[in-house]
Amino acid sequence: MSQKNPDQAEPDDSQPVVKTDAQWRKLLTAEQYRVTRQKGTERAFTGEYWNCTKEGVYRCVCCGAELFTSDTKFDSGCGWPSFYAPTDDKRIESAIDRSHGMVRTEVMCRRCGAHLGHVFNDGPRPTGLRYCINSASLKLEEKTPAPADSSDKRNAGKPKAEQPDAQKPKADKSAPKR
Ligand SMILES: [Zn+2]
Repeated sequence: MSQKNPDQAEPDDSQPVVKTDAQWRKLLTAEQYRVTRQKGTERAFTGEYWNCTKEGVYRCVCCGAELFTSDTKFDSGCGWPSFYAPTDDKRIESAIDRSHGMVRTEVMCRRCGAHLGHVFNDGPRPTGLRYCINSASLKLEEKTPAPADSSDKRNAGKPKAEQPDAQKPKADKSAPKR
């Protein structure tokens, strides 16, 4: 915790981001503004990320805080990007939402207060949670493919199609333990 590098270009995640309504309007698209600043909900199956399987980090569209990663994203079939855990609980704020005749738990970006979506108790293991998040609240920072290293050269003679794992979901070391 004391190893923070002050020279890091990225602003401190713990610093709240506060902007005026007019500033947010300028910064965001109409849909992003409606969802994040007015607690709107995008229509199911219409967002950019509900069926996105790209690897990377999902940041707050408003302030850039790292909220979710593709490692915890799963296909819930609900039409919104779903995650079973945030990158860090501390980056998420929750509140009881009694709108629309329901009692739900709203989740927001702690840093800037952006409405993200809701969290439900019907998610998969290991958390049992389903963070049902609007695509409009997120910005995916795609993971850049690792540069080919020398270990690849041993297989250089083989055609790529022979790799049996190519179709399988990636099971790398960072995958959650079952
Ligand atoms: Zn934010």
